[in-house]
Amino acid sequence: MDPSAQKLLSLLMKLRREGIHDAAVLSAMERVPRAEFVPASYRHLAYEDQTLPIGCGQTISQPLIVAQMTQALALTPTCRVLEIGTGSGYQAAVLAHLCRRVATIERHQPLYNFAKGQFAALELYNIDTRLGDGFQGWPETAPFDAIIATCAPEAVPDALFAQLAIGGRLVAPVGQQGKRQELKVFTKRDAHRLTARLLGTAEFVPMVADA
Ligand code: SAH
Repeated sequence: MDPSAQKLLSLLMKLRREGIHDAAVLSAMERVPRAEFVPASYRHLAYEDQTLPIGCGQTISQPLIVAQMTQALALTPTCRVLEIGTGSGYQAAVLAHLCRRVATIERHQPLYNFAKGQFAALELYNIDTRLGDGFQGWPETAPFDAIIATCAPEAVPDALFAQLAIGGRLVAPVGQQGKRQELKVFTKRDAHRLTARLLGTAEFVPMVADA
């Protein structure tokens, strides 16, 4: 077995030990080559459970956090998902294997271009990309069955809750800039009621509001 396949296998075993029991999530993470989403100089670390730099001062999340957040979204094959913070595109590629359509928004043009190129190269045709401000969500194609923010707002913007379908899940790291955030899962019970559950803590880059 080649060394990166061996490392991927060890990573998947670690995810399982850490509580990732959803076989579809594990299988999606087995199928998406994380090495294709990190800069060449970090490729040797692609299957370590580490956050890595991706340029523009941003980072690709640690695989365990990707797995935990994805599992918490409880996706089914017919779901439509919105992601705020495309970054490298890795998280969106994992989602693309688990649902019908992914809409993902990124504010940095170089990252947006890179991710778009990787989706085409990997023939992931069910991902729609947008360059812009995630605070507004993507109202034209709302509601979404699930929403994931991979950058941290101080509080989840109302626009995102408004674009979540009844019964839908929203996962986001919530907290002040420069501090560890609480990773929260919200469920929209009805038009006026949300319940929240704490998944753990995390360290994401902030969700930046464009002026
Ligand atoms: N999901 C990514 C990791 C993203 S890092 C991956 O798998 O690689 C967080 C990303 O959120 C960064 O690329 C950052 O530019 C982006 N971001 C921050 N604020 C944003 C906003 N308001 N709208 C859209 N993207 C935003």
